[in-house]
Amino acid sequence: MTAAEPTFRQSVELMFNRAAALMELPPGLEEKIRVCNSTYVVRFGVRLRGEVRTFTGYRSVHSEHMEPVKGGIRYAANVNQDEVEALASLMTFKCALVEAPFGGSKGGLCIDPRQYEEHELEQITRRFAYELIKRDLINPSQNVPAPDMGTGEKEMAIMADQYARMNTTDINARACVTGKPPNAGGIQGRVEATGRGVQYALQEFFRYPEDVAKAGLDGSLDGKRVIVQGLGNVGYHAALFLSTEDGCKITHVIERDGALTNPEGLDIALVRDWIAHHGGVRGCPHGHYIEEGLKVLEEDCDILIPAAIEGVINMGNAERVKAPLIIEAANGPVTAGADEILRHKGTVIIPDLYANAGGVTVSYFEWVKNLSHIRFGRMQRRQEEARHELIVNELERLSKDKELGWSLSPNFKEKYLKGAGELELVRSGLDDTMRGAYQSMREVWHSRNDVTDLRTAGFLVSISRVASSYQAKGL
Ligand code: GLU
Repeated sequence: MTAAEPTFRQSVELMFNRAAALMELPPGLEEKIRVCNSTYVVRFGVRLRGEVRTFTGYRSVHSEHMEPVKGGIRYAANVNQDEVEALASLMTFKCALVEAPFGGSKGGLCIDPRQYEEHELEQITRRFAYELIKRDLINPSQNVPAPDMGTGEKEMAIMADQYARMNTTDINARACVTGKPPNAGGIQGRVEATGRGVQYALQEFFRYPEDVAKAGLDGSLDGKRVIVQGLGNVGYHAALFLSTEDGCKITHVIERDGALTNPEGLDIALVRDWIAHHGGVRGCPHGHYIEEGLKVLEEDCDILIPAAIEGVINMGNAERVKAPLIIEAANGPVTAGADEILRHKGTVIIPDLYANAGGVTVSYFEWVKNLSHIRFGRMQRRQEEARHELIVNELERLSKDKELGWSLSPNFKEKYLKGAGELELVRSGLDDTMRGAYQSMREVWHSRNDVTDLRTAGFLVSISRVASSYQAKGL
């Protein structure tokens, strides 16, 4: 990154300001929505390997216009207040855009999880959770964390368990965090949710030929050449679904230790498997290895998917990025400076606050499931199947009538009879959410001459929703 590059938090604020300048908000309210309400910093000690080690953690609350506030907890060595506040602020606008009834929050712990054993991570996570729980920074009705970079189902299960130990009579204890494993109050489809959301976002974008044309592309997703940066949970699922279900060719995968390329399309499951066993892409026989991974962001492609960390596309490389369409699967992968350069070049960016909102959307479903204490579909599934059976029996009877001369297609009966389970319902709810949110953004994008990009359109929709919420409270 260059010296002129704003910090991540400043970057988000600049993007916010661009949109706010096009609105007529009372200046006091604009400021209220922009700023981060609070950031709690905790330093705590854990006895490990015969000594006491001190860890620094954060939980930042950006906006409490709706409660609980929501957002993941990240484990990374370079977590800092600026980053956590930027991420908390993005959560506010993300939730507003996909109509998840939450304010924005985010947490982080300065730790490289790869340096610790599983039992050590459990001890550290439990202690961090304890510090947050006793200040109501983990609480089903006030602040509901979820996984983010470096955390997953395991950490969420530990946090939920810690909350239950400290709140033995709270009947809603399980709703204190989302992203838990299905056998500990989680929901089917949460792990894949953010990647699945990226796929649904692209599918929706490609339903509008005029939007696709703005990126200088045409046709469908089939055959599109895609570069994915980061094959973690989000990048992996997005790449897997796009390649196996939509016909995209993942021509490049960029990882920490370099990149892998295959113009015919990489087999994502095999690459992921290799990374899991070898810690990187070097030596992977399923593609050609390139040492200078980040340079690959500048390769020719149709769609670029940055799916790892913030700031990878910055003022230092934006000019050379050739992709006509970028979808931000990560939070903040394009800095405000790069955003400006890319906008002038005509690159279409599907922004993070929309593109990666699949995670929090399914978190919302999980939270509702926990509060209602019943799995989605449990009441309706068999009734739905019974009604379908009536139709199928009738069709079967008619198809035996030689005079009508028609028959049922193979598998029709089986497919039609199967009522939706939790996973199908989660995917349907996510698809609906991603379509609805895109439509609200594109309406602004197409109807206002002063809005030339999807990010500003997304911020406009979100800020006005947050503003109405504050105004309804008399602020
Ligand atoms: N960490 C994810 C995000 O950045 C998910 C947050 C959540 O599910 O609350 O959106």
